[in-house]
Amino acid sequence: LPDAPAVVECGPGGDPHTGRSWTFAELAEHSRAVAKALIAAGYGHGDRIGMWSPNVAEWTSLLYGAARAGVILVNLNPAYRSHELTYVVEQCAMRGLVVACPDARMDPPAIARQVAREGAPALEQLIMLPAGAPGDEPFAHARPGEVAGRAADAAAEEATWEAFLARAAEVSDEQLAEREAATGAEDPVNLQYTSGTTGFPKGVTLTHRNILNNGFHIGELLGYSEADTLVIPVPFFHCFGMVIGVIAAVSHGTVSVIPGRAFHPLDSLTAAAATRATSLYGVPAMFIAMLARPEAASLDLSTLRTGVMAGSPCPVEVMRRVIDELHMSEVAICYGMTETAPVSTMTRRDDTLEARTQTVGRSMPHVETKVVDPVTGQTLARGATGELCTRGYSVMLGYWNAEQKTAEVLDEDGWMHSGDLASMDADGFVRIEGRIKDLVIRGGENISPREVEEFLYAHPDVQDVQVVGVPDERYGEELMACLIMREGAEPLTVEAVREFATGRIAHFKIPAYVRIMDAFPMTVSGKVRKVELREEGAAVIG
Ligand code: ATP
Ligand code: MG
Repeated sequence: LPDAPAVVECGPGGDPHTGRSWTFAELAEHSRAVAKALIAAGYGHGDRIGMWSPNVAEWTSLLYGAARAGVILVNLNPAYRSHELTYVVEQCAMRGLVVACPDARMDPPAIARQVAREGAPALEQLIMLPAGAPGDEPFAHARPGEVAGRAADAAAEEATWEAFLARAAEVSDEQLAEREAATGAEDPVNLQYTSGTTGFPKGVTLTHRNILNNGFHIGELLGYSEADTLVIPVPFFHCFGMVIGVIAAVSHGTVSVIPGRAFHPLDSLTAAAATRATSLYGVPAMFIAMLARPEAASLDLSTLRTGVMAGSPCPVEVMRRVIDELHMSEVAICYGMTETAPVSTMTRRDDTLEARTQTVGRSMPHVETKVVDPVTGQTLARGATGELCTRGYSVMLGYWNAEQKTAEVLDEDGWMHSGDLASMDADGFVRIEGRIKDLVIRGGENISPREVEEFLYAHPDVQDVQVVGVPDERYGEELMACLIMREGAEPLTVEAVREFATGRIAHFKIPAYVRIMDAFPMTVSGKVRKVELREEGAAVIG
């Protein structure tokens, strides 16, 4: 195993041959160097170091290195700009920040310097990543790492990644072992921010026990081994990329392939074909985009066997196509949230096809789930719809520095209240109906947008669909269907939708409005921001 590849970072176009590759021995070596370098730079037990970057190999060594040094890694979305960055850096009193290299669109070092100067007194150190893939802008901005202390005009000390690592030599194996011995499984290891689908992202404090166990069990249930190669187009700054991805893979000797810095559907498929991958991940929107690429048919994807779809409702139709067209016969659906590290329920390889496409599976090993009445908190009978709750090793310590917010979702008995509507059948299979906040109430009738979306997907001209509630004088709310048409298809009118739906779904579920769109407003983790669709929808109808 030491000489087998652990992390492969593809070059442009998802080409693994022009990128970089680390063996397991190298990953271990780099992680040890990061741990020692953190100690040398003065990071104490429980200090916070941020990573603000697209997916790069260094993220994996920082993940394991920070864990060994007892330092908390704060995962940051590369789409953040100075406003969000300042908020997070201050909120967790971050001590150091690893910063991506500039690319054609933006200059992260310049933004990080501005943040350090203007808003974040605790931020002492900026560590600048080298340019990665060929074609990236040269790394022109970092000051040499030898700069001791702060330059006159800078608020934080700066070092290149190499200079930061070079200080590992100052720390002995004994010193590292001492730090490791002082670090326990219940200590925080990771601060992750939620997707911000429903509001401003919340900082979730996760422990070694939370993420390591969750990742390990996911790998078990997917049947990962040294024979597997996993393509991870989902971001590392969320649990999907880091836990379901990297930790599940590394704990099973499976290769992690980074197809590119940003998600590109064709690059992901190209990387899967070129690495003879056995597993591929994505949120539903990513799989929809991959399936829409005509080139998919001519790539050899026959080695794919499994993968994970998760993050938002997984349409049955999309699951079917992933199984048929991408050969991912064992693909799993995972359900969870950042607050549960992340997976609470998951489909199993030997579940029926129906269960694997229509439910989010059953509870993870050693995790409990229940469905409760959102108002009274009473556990509901099997089959009834209510709020899904999770309890077990995977539940977060709490939101960082936000006791009140934590108390709103985490009850005294240790149950995490998800804010998601779900039902559980007699065998324990869970169906997610959507978020409580997304529920549309039309004339006293509760409508799950999810159900109407599933129905409209079946229209041959529809590529993607979102259904939201918009204000209505008569009924309180009305349904609006936001449609992305398949290439070459005529836009559907309200009348055409009504005709398609009449007699097949209840009249009150037939959308009163249809809006044709080119793209939906998305979070960077690939989730549709229904909040925005609702607001825009309300504005469109005036
Ligand atoms: P925020 O909490 O900031 O509004 P978020 O809830 O999208 O954002 P995450 O923790 O990344 O942040 O996502 C968890 C949510 O994603 C769940 O609460 C659920 O609504 C949704 N989700 C995850 N997996 C699935 C799935 N398989 N099916 C349906 N919904 C899912
Ligand atoms: Mg959430």
